[in-house]
Amino acid sequence: MDKVIIIGSGPAGCTAAIYTARAQLQPLLIAGPAMGGQVAISSEVGNYPGFPEDIPGAELAQLMHKQAERFGARVEMDIVTDVDLSARPFKVTTYGGEFETQALIIASGASPRKLGVPGEVEFSGRGVSYCATCDGFFYIGKEVVMVGGGDSAMEEALFLTRFANKVSIVHRRNQLRAEKLFQDMVFRNEKIDLIWDTIITEIVGDTQTTGVKLRNVKTGEERLFPTQGVFVAIGYDPNTDFLHGQLELTDNGYIVVDRDQCTGIAGVWAAGDVCDWTYKQISTSVGAGAKAGMQAEHYIAKLEGRAYPGETALGQ
Ligand code: NAP
Repeated sequence: MDKVIIIGSGPAGCTAAIYTARAQLQPLLIAGPAMGGQVAISSEVGNYPGFPEDIPGAELAQLMHKQAERFGARVEMDIVTDVDLSARPFKVTTYGGEFETQALIIASGASPRKLGVPGEVEFSGRGVSYCATCDGFFYIGKEVVMVGGGDSAMEEALFLTRFANKVSIVHRRNQLRAEKLFQDMVFRNEKIDLIWDTIITEIVGDTQTTGVKLRNVKTGEERLFPTQGVFVAIGYDPNTDFLHGQLELTDNGYIVVDRDQCTGIAGVWAAGDVCDWTYKQISTSVGAGAKAGMQAEHYIAKLEGRAYPGETALGQ
């Protein structure tokens, strides 16, 4: 049986792994579909302290992973399909096996939200993408559409201008949600156009995407807009399917935690984007992962009858 299992390998999961590994708990980190979570597919990270120059997301994710392993975290490249939190030890089922653990930290992150329009599923991987960093290279010299008005859409649109001749941002309102720095960069970029007050109603093509049907939400006007790529960056949904209703979720589907990252079940914590719909930053996820890791450390010390520094301040 493991003492601590961590689900997810983004900044929250890796930080929880670093803390619990340094506490000699030999945590098992179950990485999920890809090591590093969303950071690993971010082009450049410019707002994480300690890196005065931008650092490629993949490199930052790799450094976090390396640091966790250095202290003794074990990393399994596997996906959790089920957990049983009804009895102790908790059970964690993955595609590859079954595990038991005294403490569980859930840092399973969030996945890109889908548009939910006809053609999206059919042309996924054939012109429809949720990751400019992963797929931008395939659009050298082409014209693409970016959907969304937040930081992700702006950051990815800017990244795509390295490859595409033109990037048209389709946004459902006439005002961007993204931070001003990104907005200014987007407005200044000659390769980027903005199509305001507009939604995509369908993605069309033959073997590959050839266009999108657009509707102006103010005038109702519809038109076919030719494009070879559609990049979707309209937010994220938390990855909680494997919980099968065993933890309390907010109305918008995130795990409910208190200020110490505790869920409603003693011995189970959540950290990062799976329980945060407000900040969603690497730095905030790192902080939450550290808190969850320290809580787990305290919990195990208590189970084993050991003293723990900060005894009175920490604990469920
Ligand atoms: P977001 O801030 O939630 O923005 C989502 C955007 O997609 C919004 O503009 C929203 O429109 C639009 N949208 C949502 N559903 C839509 C739909 N069904 N059809 C069309 N448009 C839709 O998501 P995000 O940009 O992924 O950012 C998530 C978090 O990560 C934020 O906290 C952000 O600050 C952070 N982030 C930070 C950085 C950074 O470097 N600092 C980079 C990336 C992300 P409305 O505006 O009309 O709601």
